[in-house]
Amino acid sequence: MKNIRNFCIIAHIDHGKSTLADRLLEFTQTVAEREMQHQLLDNMDLERERGITIKSHAIQMNYRYKGEDYVLNLIDTPGHVDFSYEVSRSIAACEGALLIVDSSQGIEAQTISNLYLAIGNDLEIIPVLNKIDLPHAMPEEVSDQIIELIGCDVDDIIHASGKSGIGIEEILNAICDRISAPKGDPAAPLQALIFDSVFNSYRGIEVYFRIFNGTLKKGEKVKFINTGKTYEADEIGVLKLNQEERKEMGAGNVGYLISGIKNAKEVKVGDTITHVEKPGQSIQGFEDVKPMVFAGIYPVETSEYEELRSSMEKLQLNDASLVWEPETSAALGFGFRCGFLGMLHMEIVQERLEREFDMTVITTVPSVQFHAYTTKSDMIKVNAPSEMPEPNYIDHIEEPFIKAQIITKSEFVGPIITLCMDKRGILKNQTYLTSDRVEMTFEMPLAEIVFDFFDKLKTISRGYASLDYELIGFRTSNMVKLDVMLNSEKVDALSAIVHRDKAYDWGKRLCEKLRELLPRQMFEIAIQAAIGQKIIARETVKAMRKNVLAKCYGGDISRKRKLLEKQKKGKKRMRQVGNVEIPQEAFLAVLKLD
Ligand code: GDP
Ligand code: MG
Repeated sequence: MKNIRNFCIIAHIDHGKSTLADRLLEFTQTVAEREMQHQLLDNMDLERERGITIKSHAIQMNYRYKGEDYVLNLIDTPGHVDFSYEVSRSIAACEGALLIVDSSQGIEAQTISNLYLAIGNDLEIIPVLNKIDLPHAMPEEVSDQIIELIGCDVDDIIHASGKSGIGIEEILNAICDRISAPKGDPAAPLQALIFDSVFNSYRGIEVYFRIFNGTLKKGEKVKFINTGKTYEADEIGVLKLNQEERKEMGAGNVGYLISGIKNAKEVKVGDTITHVEKPGQSIQGFEDVKPMVFAGIYPVETSEYEELRSSMEKLQLNDASLVWEPETSAALGFGFRCGFLGMLHMEIVQERLEREFDMTVITTVPSVQFHAYTTKSDMIKVNAPSEMPEPNYIDHIEEPFIKAQIITKSEFVGPIITLCMDKRGILKNQTYLTSDRVEMTFEMPLAEIVFDFFDKLKTISRGYASLDYELIGFRTSNMVKLDVMLNSEKVDALSAIVHRDKAYDWGKRLCEKLRELLPRQMFEIAIQAAIGQKIIARETVKAMRKNVLAKCYGGDISRKRKLLEKQKKGKKRMRQVGNVEIPQEAFLAVLKLD
């Protein structure tokens, strides 16, 4: 145990975590160079394409240093706020962390939020100034930021480049020298923390764990404390490039467990594995992750409802954080109301449904969960606008609030404060990290972030702002339901819950946007926005004069075919509501109001 080192890598997205991890694996010959695929740890196609790590993984390296053999377990952490609970559990499984900062960018919001998690778990921090090969690297300036942030010496900071391989050996040596060996008693009752799981359709779910106390042997009866379920440890082992089976594993170790579990719901990150006989205590910090964003998912073809259901069931087997239940919409028919960890998670689910299950779906306006307190003083959890009680039954409504942390250059402070105030935010704190770098803390409604906040923040700061947030609770807000009618017919899937002060402006802009997005048809379309019975905005889509083919009547046949094909393509993501055809973009129009 004295030569085991468990560590993770903390970095803001794009600061070079995956590239550096690849170099560590190469240097320790965990993978031969010819086996090396770029960014080995990100092994889901979608992750690679987007260059983000969605699920965290672990890999073990062997390293010889000062005449001793070390076992280094790298526990990878996902980099996006949607998955912050998973990040916190990965960090809890380690004794140390590499803090990677891009020397051409400096400290960003996720650097800091993950650093705080690491410090909160008493991890030893090894600061790494990465990408020093870049001509526009600013090593002195960024070193100053790091020193100010963690209070280290300038000599503690390792200069590195994952691209050209600078500093890799120094990092490995520092891991052995500076990070402490795991503590724990192999003879105590078993306590192993689940920090991740991966779905394997042949072997069932692979559970990744870190043993804090006790010893786990193959074949033993184990219990997951928080779900209360028991299993047999069919196979245990360590994670190299491939899995290597072991007969037993003791305190301090990181590994995998296979026990024939088929449903991801049974494996909760943060849960504790113990023995059925002589059980240990649950490890602190377990939380049931709750969805933060809700949206309807509907098949484009109503006949594909059952197929969509079975796809969702399969998807859920390997995505325990996805929740859903059947929902009916007057406009869209049968579909599902789904709960996601955040907007990225929602996009990933939609994309996986399309790629892995070949479904074409329509996603409706995402919404947060509101708490509606009725005049009878009971509370209704509102996950969709249609679930909102009638205004005269509502006593008051509460909405989720977050603490948002934004880091930016000082020149963007003004515009960002304006943006956040426009999003009903309150500035709580403002600190200069260096003369040019500012950290701001706001309290604001989650609903405002769900809409178009990220994009706006990026635009006004020209990309020099990063954001991280956490939920801080529910607060009373004056919310109203805004309905949309097309030719006097209410389209429930276009409804949204918005703040009363903004409702008029929203209604107007939403109608304008819909006018742009709805294709012209043979008749006029009236677009109206209403609060209750009161119409607050109106736009019209004029009727088409001629049909598309009329223009090339008698003309070039191939052009005609092209036009028809174009129309067919356009139809792919359309839904007929009453007599109006609505494209997918229209259902998400509220996200793009500007
Ligand atoms: P991650 O999001 O933190 O995992 O970052 P990646 O490892 O995916 O790297 C993000 C981008 O930075 C990629 O385009 C890499 O090729 C590039 N990159 C990573 N490390 C270095 C480095 O040391 N030097 C330079 N010049 N580019 C790097
Ligand atoms: Mg990465």
